[in-house]
Parts: sequence; structure tokens; C-alpha cells
Amino acid sequence: MAWYLKYYECSECGIKWTDKWSCACNDRCPNCDAETEPSDVENLTCIVRSTTSGTFRVMFSPDSAESTPDYEQIGVFGNESGRRYPGGRKR
Ligand SMILES: [Zn+2]
Repeated sequence: MAWYLKYYECSECGIKWTDKWSCACNDRCPNCDAETEPSDVENLTCIVRSTTSGTFRVMFSPDSAESTPDYEQIGVFGNESGRRYPGGRKR
């Protein structure tokens, strides 16, 4: 499995909504209950988050994820000051 952000637009009443789940399956309209296919799907299996300390964490949703992404941290990058890059070059 993985983790997806899905965009829906109801063909019956025209409202739009989003949902996050571990598969790109159909959802029911929260307004009229019509079954709707996602109009667009964004893959959130691997994301990058900035932290307050100025670094970036790479988070990965493992195959075991079902009702939550269960993100695991797989890497950390330094900030744009370059202090973690080889040679410590500055802009
Ligand atoms: Zn609807």
C-alpha cells in the first residue's frame, strides 16, 4: 500500500472534496451519496517536511500503512546554509 490524497468532484451535485487513504478507490459524495471516482490523485507515499531547526525530513509511508500513513523517517537534509554539504560552500 501507499498513501494518496484524492480529489473528488460529484457528477450529481457538483461539490468537491478531498480524502486521504491508502488506496485510490471511489468515495461517496458527502452531500448526495453518489459513488464518485477520484478526479485526481496525488501520491503522498514519500513526502518532505521542513522542521523548526531548519532541516528537512524525508518521510515514507510503508507498505503496512492502512488507515493512517504511518510515516517513517528515512532521511534528513540540512538547510540551505550549506553547512551539511560537502565543502561547506556558502552562497
Ligand atoms: Zn453529490
